[in-house]
Amino acid sequence: MADADGAGWSDRALGLGRPIARRDFLGGVALAAGASALPGAAFAQSGADYPPAKTGLRGQYPGSFEMAHAARDGGFDGPISAEDSGEHHDLVIVGAGISGLSAAWLQAQALGMGRKVLILDNHDDFGGHAKRNEFQHQGRTILAYGGTMSIETPFPYSFTSKKLLADLGVDLTSYDRYETKAYAGLAPGTFFDREHFAGDRVVAGTGRKPWQQFFAEAPLSAAVRADLTRLHTEQVDYLPGLTPEARADALKRMSYQNFLLGPARMLPASLPFFVGQGYRNNKRVDTLPAWEAALSRRAPGFAGMALPGQIQADAQHFHWPDGNAAVARMLVSRLVPGVFAGPLDQESVVLAPARYAALDNPANAVRIRLNAMVVRVEHLGPVTRSTEKAVRVVYVKDGKRISVTAANVIMACFNNIIPYIVPSLPAPQKAALLYASKVPMLYTNVLIRNWQAWAKLGVRAIHAPNGYHTTVALDTPMAIGGYASAATPDEPVVLHMVRNPNKPGLPRKEQNRIGRAEMLATDFTTIEREIRGQLQRMLGPGGFDAARDILAITANRWPHGYSYTYDTLDDPDVPDEQRPHILGRQSFGRIAIANADAGAAAFTNTAIDMADRAVQEMLISRGLT
Ligand SMILES: Cc1cc2nc3c(=O)[nH]c(=O)nc-3n(C[C@H](O)[C@H](O)[C@H](O)COP(=O)(O)OP(=O)(O)OC[C@H]3O[C@@H](n4cnc5c(N)ncnc54)[C@H](O)[C@@H]3O)c2cc1C
Repeated sequence: MADADGAGWSDRALGLGRPIARRDFLGGVALAAGASALPGAAFAQSGADYPPAKTGLRGQYPGSFEMAHAARDGGFDGPISAEDSGEHHDLVIVGAGISGLSAAWLQAQALGMGRKVLILDNHDDFGGHAKRNEFQHQGRTILAYGGTMSIETPFPYSFTSKKLLADLGVDLTSYDRYETKAYAGLAPGTFFDREHFAGDRVVAGTGRKPWQQFFAEAPLSAAVRADLTRLHTEQVDYLPGLTPEARADALKRMSYQNFLLGPARMLPASLPFFVGQGYRNNKRVDTLPAWEAALSRRAPGFAGMALPGQIQADAQHFHWPDGNAAVARMLVSRLVPGVFAGPLDQESVVLAPARYAALDNPANAVRIRLNAMVVRVEHLGPVTRSTEKAVRVVYVKDGKRISVTAANVIMACFNNIIPYIVPSLPAPQKAALLYASKVPMLYTNVLIRNWQAWAKLGVRAIHAPNGYHTTVALDTPMAIGGYASAATPDEPVVLHMVRNPNKPGLPRKEQNRIGRAEMLATDFTTIEREIRGQLQRMLGPGGFDAARDILAITANRWPHGYSYTYDTLDDPDVPDEQRPHILGRQSFGRIAIANADAGAAAFTNTAIDMADRAVQEMLISRGLT
């Protein structure tokens, strides 16, 4: 055995290779299935026919995206042959995320439920980023979210988004009924690591106890302690002599890092405290404009600075144990008969079993075809010609190219892929669609035997500024729809861990690109090793034993994660109508563009609003308004 704080532990001591619930997929083939080795595990539905129960590498898992990369690399250039299925649909939707499902729902609202709609998605599950993860332990179903977590946004929900949720039976004012007080007395904490500070230690009470006391308990040199305490407690105008507007302007043009090291005169040795923080839309200390740091109200340094007033958003909040996968499930329950027992509401959605075999039933008007990667969308004649069979769609499923026709197509996928699968788009539109670079994100769920170590350390969430995963949190405690998460420290619980691979110092888009490549090149074993080592180091002093206490791991990999949002450091300051997402999302004949990228904001309501716009454009293209 190695030292009790976890550093220097061997793979064996950390439990790497022990049978846990995980399944590594390479090229779509299960390599190792440890699920049955989980003590007491009895999967209600096995991962084979029920994707949410699959563990190991999920999200954009190996086997789901290679065809898209082949399309990007020119593998489908030129005329494309395919087996003609003879299928014709009123509408084909590319992408079964919240945007694609919302588009199907909104067109049904406009035209009635009888229209033939085919939704194609390259994954084995619907929902896109709204991903449900399930664990089974000792006869108990334990839920987690693998992507989109909550209904929330810094700007108000539109009428359409609010109405869609209301039509699904969601009451956004009712959330407080469902979150329990299981972690009362536990606070957020910070893990100071010995590579960057004066030792390894979790300090409880970040932002809760007086900063002087918090930093006094942290393993820091005297100089760094004084420096961090000063920044968090003093009220100084670090940009004196400017009007609030000029001050805001200056903050828009410098990164938060340059603000800290420049006007705020922080020591470079203090910077590691800020490095892993994703203050706003995942921008890091070096890519976050200082102005956005000020707006976040979580970043210190602005308390003494008069800044222009900001409009506060009308906040919406709702969370389910499986995150916004619940929204996807509620939509599917209304769109596709036979998958669920009937229409689901905000409570019944939580535990309702799903029959995936019913998703693509020829007897239904709306069908969802999974494991189907679209590689070509093209008009069957001049773009402006009005015919019923206006568009041909080719997808690859089980290695076979198959074509269907449609009167209209809505691209509810990613902006970056559209130019490669709709090659006839005008060149400037293609360039606009290729401008953005989505944020790579890893959402890891770890089922642990109990959370006694957390109770002992007094923490419910740990920020690890320099960790592989930069946050680790006990799952939101909830009791909803017959589901109850852990109520006492002796019960199993899911830890939710977040990583954003990047390359500090480079422009943000370049960091996203490098992070994406790193993510795709990292295998599950490497991720598991990092998880075990990190948890052991952080929680070991509370009695945690990675080899004993980790029961299952699901790592949801999102190389194409959050939609790209503009900022004042790296993007040209142009009027909205000249922004690439607006130029890129113009409809093209019978092909309209939905998805959150088209709104340049990584939010569920954006995905819904973009579906609404695309459906309007679809109706206009056929004179159906
Ligand atoms: C990790 C994570 C956490 C998030 N958390 C939140 C949150 O808490 N709250 C919030 O409001 N928003 C959150 N978001 C933002 C989220 O992206 C949006 O809320 C929304 O879910 C995006 O929906 P979408 O349908 O536009 O895209 P997606 O969910 O990405 O769906 C698009 C689907 O199209 C598929 N596709 C792509 N190309 C093809 C093709 N050629 N053929 C077939 N299928 C294809 C994709 O694989 C995917 O399944 C989060 C995003 C991520 C990644």
